[in-house]
Amino acid sequence: MREIDAGLITKEVKRLVMEANYFLPDDVLNSLKESQKNEKWDLASATIGKIIDNAGIASTDHAPMCQDTGMVVVFVKIGQDARVINGYIEDAINEGIREGYEEGYLRKSVVKDPLNRVNTKDNTPGVIHYEIVPGDKLSIMVAPKGFGSENMSRIKMLKPSEGLQGVKDFILESVELAGPNPCPPIVVGVGIGGTFEKAAYLAKKSLMRPLDKYSDDPFYADLEKEMLVKVNELGIGPQGFGGKTTALKVSIEHYPTHIAGLPVAVNINCHATRHKEVIL
Ligand code: SF4
Repeated sequence: MREIDAGLITKEVKRLVMEANYFLPDDVLNSLKESQKNEKWDLASATIGKIIDNAGIASTDHAPMCQDTGMVVVFVKIGQDARVINGYIEDAINEGIREGYEEGYLRKSVVKDPLNRVNTKDNTPGVIHYEIVPGDKLSIMVAPKGFGSENMSRIKMLKPSEGLQGVKDFILESVELAGPNPCPPIVVGVGIGGTFEKAAYLAKKSLMRPLDKYSDDPFYADLEKEMLVKVNELGIGPQGFGGKTTALKVSIEHYPTHIAGLPVAVNINCHATRHKEVIL
């Protein structure tokens, strides 16, 4: 059984949350640059240009790319032949978030209770998802999630008879209702199948996929491409000013479901599609 020190987890999470807020991933940056070339309208092109410039300043100055530095979503994959020593994994992750948000001068955006609204003042706790996988490695993906886009996310339990068309309509309707609020160009994460909570989890997980990678399933890869065209035909455009680039990507994850249901969830991410991973 391989042993991984809790202190190392804290150190790495601290680094990841700071880097995720400072450095826009290359796949997002490249996609923005490609989109800018396709925008024929000056305002749309200039708006994408400002987003790219902003990302450049953030990475040079080690400053957050957005004032909303998010609630930290963490995807943990722990090999069944690994174990954490000298501490509890969840405490180690939250300590990393705490130290990273403090040292990195990142805004503390988490309230202790959804109704009494008192700030925890250290951006903890994160929302942590665990998956047990084969092997002896520990992979940690952090994704600070802004709520301008999170608030625009939706879930619906479709009837099976609503089928593929029902799913397409729900995705488009969700993006249209969101309008400029999630700071487009957006990334649209879609979860189809499972149960109520599984669909939401899949939608979030799909946002972690690199923008240049499509679903491994050819049917869903085609659906992702088709929906991206349809979403961009809505004309919401960069920051809602109109244009061809409402979304950079539609990513879909799917899972078996019950004969009586067709859950579908849409989790929207803004252009600040932040995520960073380490494998220990
Ligand atoms: S939606 Fe994204 S870009 Fe807009 S304010 Fe929130 S984190 Fe920032």
